[in-house]
Amino acid sequence: IGQTAMRLLQAAELPVQLGAGRSTGEMSASMGVARFPRDGDDFDTLLQHADQAMYRAKTMGRGRYAVFQPSLVDDERVAAGGDGELLSALDNHQIQLYYQPVINISTGRAVGAEALMRWQHSQQGVLTPARFIVRAEESGQLQALGRTTLELACAQVAEWRQMGFRTGPVSVNVSTSQFRHADWASDLKNALERHHINGADLAVELSEGALMDDAENTRERVQAMRKLGVKLVIDDFGTGPISLARLGELQPAMIKLDPSFLLKLADDPAAQAMVAGVVGLANSLAIDIVAEGVETEAQRDALARLGCVLQQGYLFAHPEPAMPEPAWPSSQWGSHSLPTTLGATEGDADFALMPLDPSPKVVR
Ligand code: C2E
Ligand code: CA
Ligand code: CA
Repeated sequence: IGQTAMRLLQAAELPVQLGAGRSTGEMSASMGVARFPRDGDDFDTLLQHADQAMYRAKTMGRGRYAVFQPSLVDDERVAAGGDGELLSALDNHQIQLYYQPVINISTGRAVGAEALMRWQHSQQGVLTPARFIVRAEESGQLQALGRTTLELACAQVAEWRQMGFRTGPVSVNVSTSQFRHADWASDLKNALERHHINGADLAVELSEGALMDDAENTRERVQAMRKLGVKLVIDDFGTGPISLARLGELQPAMIKLDPSFLLKLADDPAAQAMVAGVVGLANSLAIDIVAEGVETEAQRDALARLGCVLQQGYLFAHPEPAMPEPAWPSSQWGSHSLPTTLGATEGDADFALMPLDPSPKVVR
């Protein structure tokens, strides 16, 4: 399915001639996949699920496909954000960041957190990005949204630092268009300076697609980030077009394994072999690897057995608004001294520890 989807997407991206040979145009497509009979046994259900998967593909960046996964979909059908509604949301501080920790399950401690955007909508309650990001991109408001999230994340990091709380790096999701915007590097630099925080306190999560455009351009942008000390994280790893050569060249600090790898992990040897391979690859390139979307203890344990101890998911914590007193403890990732089996390591010894929550679910 993946190969076919990529072929179709690539075909759609071929330049098309507009009018009588005067100019050419380029398109990109996003694709959602639903499978019969797993995802529905009638046409309407399949189409609806493919549609939901397509929305997810769009939130991941342009030119992507996504396969429907029941567990990854909220009610994503109703898009919000038309008619300047989003702009007024930005003005009225309705855009917020929630934070979800990344846990080192061998210590039960957080090693960082991901900032996830939420819209505190006056009528519809808290909206996840799937409900408004596509509309924001189509209406050209994604840039403003991206600046806002960068600003919010930096302000939060600064506040935590002022309170003497050393979180690991906080990672911000950056859309492909934001990353490719001419102002990207200066926006990032300004945000760090304005809030007096170190680049190392921040990480930027980019999709594989975002890093696959013009090689020279991408290299410059990644270098600008590196100069500021900001870590590069490749999101949804394993679903996109990044080659191994490119991975070695980009040298991200971290890759986040796409949740689709977890679905069959417990009982499918092929899925296990794939994850083990990616973990081995990451280890040998000194890249930290995080499994995302960990929902069950079986997944947690299977991942641990395969050497993947950095995990993120509902099993440990849902994304939550930043609390005045941070709920998770500090430490660092990026040390590359990660254990390949369960058990504490030296690297964790100097973390300033705080209890994860009163009744940690991750203690084994
Ligand atoms: P992502 O970057 O892959 O983020 C992970 C998504 O999985 C988040 O959805 C998170 O809430 C969800 N998640 C975490 N643990 C679990 C789990 O155990 N099970 C399940 N089913 N889901 C889990 P969310 O917050 O709805 O965000 C969706 C996507 O929207 C993100 O995917 C990211 O691509 C995009 N996004 C989020 N915040 C921002 C932002 O500030 N800027 C941009 N450009 N995109 C953002
Ligand atoms: Ca992410
Ligand atoms: Ca992800």
